[in-house]
Amino acid sequence: MLRVAVVGSGPSGVYTAQSLVQQDPEVLVDVLDRLPCPYGLVRYGVAPDHEKIKSLQSSLRSVLEHERVRFLGGVPVGPGGLSAARLRELYDAVVYCVGAATDRHLGIPGEELPGSWSATEFVAWYSAHPDSTGDGFVLGARSAVVIGVGNVAVDVTRMLARGPAELSRTDMPQAALTALAASGVADIHMVGRRGPSQARFTTKELRELGGLPETEVTVDPAELALDPDCLDPSALPPARRRNVEALSHWAALPPQGAPRCIHLRFFLRPVELLTVAGHVGAVRFERTAPDGRGGVLGTGQFEDIEAQLVLRSVGYRGVPLDGLPFDAEHGTVPHRAGRVVRGGRTVPGEYVAGWIKRGPTGVIGTNRPDAKETVTSLLEDASLLVRHEPPEDLLAVLRAEGIEPVEWAGWEAIERAEAELGASLGRGGVVKLPDWEALLAAVRGSHT
Ligand code: NAP
Repeated sequence: MLRVAVVGSGPSGVYTAQSLVQQDPEVLVDVLDRLPCPYGLVRYGVAPDHEKIKSLQSSLRSVLEHERVRFLGGVPVGPGGLSAARLRELYDAVVYCVGAATDRHLGIPGEELPGSWSATEFVAWYSAHPDSTGDGFVLGARSAVVIGVGNVAVDVTRMLARGPAELSRTDMPQAALTALAASGVADIHMVGRRGPSQARFTTKELRELGGLPETEVTVDPAELALDPDCLDPSALPPARRRNVEALSHWAALPPQGAPRCIHLRFFLRPVELLTVAGHVGAVRFERTAPDGRGGVLGTGQFEDIEAQLVLRSVGYRGVPLDGLPFDAEHGTVPHRAGRVVRGGRTVPGEYVAGWIKRGPTGVIGTNRPDAKETVTSLLEDASLLVRHEPPEDLLAVLRAEGIEPVEWAGWEAIERAEAELGASLGRGGVVKLPDWEALLAAVRGSHT
């Protein structure tokens, strides 16, 4: 039997495991994750109010409960955990599905001022990621600037605009709920450096902003007029045309006087974060203009937008994995059809899938065909793989190396504890455990 380790239990890891057991009736798969909880960005990235997307967890769950798939949480790979070389000794093949673990930087003065955060930090906070250290995001803030116009920017904008009643129905941790419920943020400026027709958000997510209670959306007609593709959207691809139509609708509306306002702004590139008493107070943008080739040029005109909270939502980035080659320009592992490429040659036994393979693009479903391609390569290589005698008791081997794996029963104990927490808080559903201590206490409880 072929024994495969899949590193990472997010959508790409789970779809890889699924494709393996579907395509090979004999393969055995261990899905390893450094966290005690499975599902990666579905648990720790999809916004709490997107219950429908979160419900994908039940189909991912059925894969992890497959008789030839085993979830092992609490197993770090890299520094302080298993090395790539050790994994190759323990398994016939390894598929890295580790995503893009960090965020891109703007590289402008003031980026690190108090009050300026990456969207990833904000998302980790309201998603109860156990590594989250952020706090006080909205404390004392009246105006927020979100830099970037992708779907993550839309998510964080929406979370800032949602009221307590809607947030309380989600699984967000109690501390984040309390802080957001008390938030005084009334103006949220979501700002793109290029034009409305080039924004990266999808129309469904964009339109959702228009349905938020007590919130209005504004678009400056003058900024739409700067974009030639907004004046005549007929030649645009359908997805972009629909975005322009939604934005044009808002641009034509008179002011509503709602308590909260989302300002969608375009053709402004951030050049500096300005400080007031040692804290961010505003973002300085340079007005841009289309260069005719899909990019923009600076115009030398500047605009400052007041902000006590800045969320930089300019995309994720993969991080190098110890013992694996890395393409620093794209933040990915070099590969051919999912086979890791070392020194110009593919290496049977080492594979990648998901964002670490193709970069941080696409929706969750994009990972299915991506994983299938990688698994097809792996199974084609089966006769070339160096087979090792499998350890009789892998869990004992891991424990001897100082790793305490969390088995499926441990994860189920976390799920029970989250249901109990939700009930005790009267929140009407599951509430996420907020930190490592609470997660590991729940796992320990499952042993007693
Ligand atoms: P993204 O779609 O790549 O958007 C990044 C945004 O940041 C773009 O507007 C980009 O502008 C801007 N940007 C990059 N560098 C910048 C700079 N130096 N200054 C100013 N702006 C800059 O990334 P994302 O929003 O993080 O999303 C990642 C992936 O997850 C996407 O595929 C997204 O669709 C997916 N996702 C989906 C959902 C959903 O389906 N509900 C939710 C969240 C995320 P340019 O275009 O000019 O580079």
